[in-house]
Amino acid sequence: LNKNNVAEKLSEILGLPLEVIEKKLGRTIRIMSYKGIDYAVLREDLGKYREGTTILLDDEKIIHGYPSIQRLALLEGVPLHMIDEIVVEEKMDGYNVRVTVTSGRVVVAITRGGYICPYTTARINKLYGDKIKEALREYEDIVLAGEVVGTENPYVVYEYPEAGGFDYFIFDTLKDGKLLPLRIRDEITEKYGLKHVPVLARLRKDDLVGLKKVIDDLDRRRREGVVIKDPEHRVPPLKYTTIYINIRDIQEGMKYPFDEGRGYLFSRIVRLICQVYEYNITGEELNRLAERLGKAILLPAVESLKERSKGRLIAATYKLVFPSEEDLNDYLEFIEELGVEAVVKIVGVSSRGIEVELMKLKDTHGYYSKILETGYSPLD
Ligand code: ATP
Ligand code: MG
Repeated sequence: LNKNNVAEKLSEILGLPLEVIEKKLGRTIRIMSYKGIDYAVLREDLGKYREGTTILLDDEKIIHGYPSIQRLALLEGVPLHMIDEIVVEEKMDGYNVRVTVTSGRVVVAITRGGYICPYTTARINKLYGDKIKEALREYEDIVLAGEVVGTENPYVVYEYPEAGGFDYFIFDTLKDGKLLPLRIRDEITEKYGLKHVPVLARLRKDDLVGLKKVIDDLDRRRREGVVIKDPEHRVPPLKYTTIYINIRDIQEGMKYPFDEGRGYLFSRIVRLICQVYEYNITGEELNRLAERLGKAILLPAVESLKERSKGRLIAATYKLVFPSEEDLNDYLEFIEELGVEAVVKIVGVSSRGIEVELMKLKDTHGYYSKILETGYSPLD
């Protein structure tokens, strides 16, 4: 793959001047390869193209980034932004994966950041490879977008009983980067035996009582929240998460306080402030919530510091199951190329494949080490 060729090719596919491409190659535009499929990744917005856009170079095909979803602080905002009817879908807590088929009829799974993830690709192929190929033969120019959830992945670990370790739930279909009416997703998933995210309700936009009932139920079931959509995507969707998950996120994040950063904590506190206001939580109930919040902030962080003081690594551990050795090698090559700091251990081989434990070292490890060594605070 020759650098000039790539620049010219990208300039042509994206319709952007060659100078722009040449200037951006390397940092903003990264060239990658997966099983001989050469592709470019946009690591930032470029012209009209969103961050996370992938360009398959041989196919000359653009897989647009999945659009960012506006978050609601107050459910009262729903009638202000929607048109008439709303579809309330479950927001599943995993990671965003777009799926497409290359001209060589290889099904590839692309992460939010625009990379073909060899692990995700291998697992989705094993589960749905044939079905997806058939579906995308009929719906040629469509890209599937969905959430991979479960406990066996290197990104977001959250248990879903219905996912059995790893599963893929489609939430949208895209054409030329535009979200298509929800019925297209329902049609494809139904016809080809694929799964879609649960549709929890169809409501009038001003039915806040109905909407709150859906969210209360999710909160009790320890689910993440909802994405509220216009059935035709005539206006952009909105997202809203439960009190339960806002606190749980803090609790998870605060295991590694120097990784998630202050923005992570503050944004979730703002969500809770608005929830206390809108749900009119007062008295004893408010005290209990405040206690949960305080514990979620302090306890995991202290626990990690104690662990570090005993000489343990502060790392996030993931369990992965690779269908084949080749899949494992592709993945190892991939994380090395991305410069992910990780320790990989093979823990066993079963009928499902090769079981691997992946440990990603956290920045908190270094910060805590320094604090313990010097006694200095890294912050004023
Ligand atoms: P952003 O705010 O840019 O969308 P983020 O990483 O902060 O990205 P989230 O807060 O998790 O994302 O919310 C948006 C994401 O929710 C989507 O990108 C998608 O991965 C996920 N998601 C889960 N369920 C759905 C659903 N039913 N419809 C749309 N997206 C969903
Ligand atoms: Mg998410």
